[in-house]
Amino acid sequence: MELSQRLVGLTGNDGDGWGVFYRARDMIAHGVDVIELTIGEHDIRTAPVILKAMDEAARAGHTGYAAVPGVDDLRRAVAERVQARTGVETGVENVLITPGGQAGLFATHAAVCDAGQRALFIDPYYATYPGTIRGVGGVPVPVAAQAGDGFEPRAEEIEAAAQGAVSLLINTPNNPTGVVYSRDTIEAIARVCQDRDLWLISDEVYDTQVWEGTHLSPRALPGMAERTLVVGSMSKSHAMTGSRVGWVVGPQEVIEHMINLATHTTYGVPGYIQDAARFALAQGPELEEEVGAPFQRRRAAAKALLSGQNAVQLVPSGGAMYLMLDVRATGLSGEGFALKLLEDEHIAVMPGESFGRAAAGHVRVAMTVEDSLFEDALQRLVRFAQQVAQ
Ligand code: PMP
Repeated sequence: MELSQRLVGLTGNDGDGWGVFYRARDMIAHGVDVIELTIGEHDIRTAPVILKAMDEAARAGHTGYAAVPGVDDLRRAVAERVQARTGVETGVENVLITPGGQAGLFATHAAVCDAGQRALFIDPYYATYPGTIRGVGGVPVPVAAQAGDGFEPRAEEIEAAAQGAVSLLINTPNNPTGVVYSRDTIEAIARVCQDRDLWLISDEVYDTQVWEGTHLSPRALPGMAERTLVVGSMSKSHAMTGSRVGWVVGPQEVIEHMINLATHTTYGVPGYIQDAARFALAQGPELEEEVGAPFQRRRAAAKALLSGQNAVQLVPSGGAMYLMLDVRATGLSGEGFALKLLEDEHIAVMPGESFGRAAAGHVRVAMTVEDSLFEDALQRLVRFAQQVAQ
């Protein structure tokens, strides 16, 4: 008996450099004190008021099967939120509640991509993208965004890869770079999608974490609502990573098919989790700002710390919980730098290479430890880079 190729080949040869992550975990397991700046997990936990709402909902009996598309109250709250943020008319019928953004990424690709079809995504990319596309039988095609362009993709590069493609996946604010795409970039992407008849899957899970610039959802551009599927999540905005609740917003017909898919895969999201998410959204932007504030603070501290030296360069960015550092002046690859930093300084960062080829020679720093530890780690990282660069 054999396993399916779809499963065995899911991750392909994507993303080198995860060895650093596993090495750090191994060192920690052996009692080494490692500062972990690797994954996108807040150092705060879900707010007690949200947990209280979750507890109350569970005790009130919302522990049975919940409506597969999502409970109406939460679907309505998401629709209102998206409409308020984009100006695009959005109703309950345009929303599917999913177990996190990841399930939304899978469902959207399942909705638009048949076996063997090409699905585009921008490199550098969030680690699961190619595997998610393979998971629905599609062929993942990276389109490189260049460091020299501030990691914003060029329309002509997308155009050049579009032959035979059915969809394009973008992510702004971006993981791993932190870059918030400009209006020009989003408009150019929208034009290509219209010219080449592509679905646009817009991963906006960091849309509340914008420190500079403005987040523009492509769904808001003329003619785009009918071809855009927006993936959202409570994970980053409300520090609810473990609750597994997110959504897809799109045309009603697509949502209806994705509800059918959900019936055959996830069978929905627990009702008490959805009630907690509904409660969290009703708290308005203050709670989101509270969740995002540590990253904004640490980013400002990092900018100050990194100025006045040339060993590492901060990639200009505007959002999310990460910093991308160009370490090419040290002569090391991102992976080489991260490995040596881990061995010498016990600081773990992610090699750019683990997010695709375009981020080679870079490392991603997650701003996910408390301020003084974070600043200490960055200072040591700079000193380390200066020594290596000599
Ligand atoms: N998209 C991006 C860009 C992410 O960084 C993540 C999580 N790190 C996700 C989607 C998935 O998040 P979740 O499933 O927790 O909503």
